[in-house]
Amino acid sequence: MIRPSLPQARGKLIEGAALAPYTWFRVGGPADVLFLPEDETDLAGFLGALDPAIPVTALGVGSNLIVRDGGIPGVVIRLMGRAWGEVMKTGELELTAGAGALDLAVAKAAAKHGMTGLEFLSGIPGSLGGATRTNAGCYGRELKDVLIRLEGINRAGERRVFGEGHAPVHFSYRHTDLPEDFIVTRLVLRGSGTRDAGEIAAEIEALQARRAETQPIREKTSGSTFANPDPPGTPGQRSAWKLIDAAGCRGLKVGGAQVSPMHCNFLINTGEATAADLEALGELVRARVLETSGVSLRWEVRRIGRIGQTGPV
Ligand SMILES: Cc1cc2nc3c(=O)[nH]c(=O)nc-3n(C[C@H](O)[C@H](O)[C@H](O)COP(=O)(O)OP(=O)(O)OC[C@H]3O[C@@H](n4cnc5c(N)ncnc54)[C@H](O)[C@@H]3O)c2cc1C
Repeated sequence: MIRPSLPQARGKLIEGAALAPYTWFRVGGPADVLFLPEDETDLAGFLGALDPAIPVTALGVGSNLIVRDGGIPGVVIRLMGRAWGEVMKTGELELTAGAGALDLAVAKAAAKHGMTGLEFLSGIPGSLGGATRTNAGCYGRELKDVLIRLEGINRAGERRVFGEGHAPVHFSYRHTDLPEDFIVTRLVLRGSGTRDAGEIAAEIEALQARRAETQPIREKTSGSTFANPDPPGTPGQRSAWKLIDAAGCRGLKVGGAQVSPMHCNFLINTGEATAADLEALGELVRARVLETSGVSLRWEVRRIGRIGQTGPV
């Protein structure tokens, strides 16, 4: 129980907060403390005064996460509410958005302003903060391609700016080298041109309809479980799902976890899965793919927290 040593804050501090409801998989144990800061000043003040020995973890909307059954030690920070989700047009081809904004909301805001180039974000069911950390992407574009600048608060409570005119951020495939406990708070994004708003909106709808046909988006899932073994653009690129299919893993089950029969690079919680079931299934898939193809798949879904029993610790 770490609460007694926590600094004051205006936002909510919730001890032993269940995290499963905040993740797409709906599994995992509680946070020692969940902090929902009101705004950047609140977040910076809290982090600056927080004992440096207490670990800090950011949580977006949990669409790329397995929170382990023993929960997350220290303070989990979630940017919830209107202050964190604002999206504004701040230039001819420029949007400024809070890191709590959903990627879809950003794509739709760009469409409303007739700004093209951000449509791909509608395919990613996360927040901008999560998209930054994971350099999320689809349809040949990644967050890095549209980023002008990002702002955030480091573990010491200091405001930092990266990007144009500031220190560079290094992005690679589904990865950035920002420190793990750096909290992204705001992004400035660029569109690539202007186009009829209705046309862009129709394209977003079409992309979403295509996703619903090919991915189990109504299940408790977390997107691609494993990274494709070859970087995008590699001639003859091998895809993780084909290797998993060839290894006979489509529909494979461990406890309440299953390899999606619809898209076999997705794991799903069929109802009663634990985080341990999902991880064990993922490891079984990795072992079978290694055996059949010699490829060692790399987890793309982030697994965080303590291994342990479901329930309060
Ligand atoms: C059906 C489905 C389809 C998907 N399709 C795609 C796809 O096409 N392309 C793709 O790239 N991904 C895809 N994903 C995965 C996921 O949506 C993305 O990785 C997304 O960017 C994660 O955002 P999130 O807010 O859910 O982050 P979370 O899952 O909550 O967290 C992911 C990581 O980001 C960190 N993080 C979250 N917020 C912040 C912040 N404010 N500051 C610093 N770090 C933060 C967390 O600590 C964690 O390490 C899909 C997922 C699902 C469920």
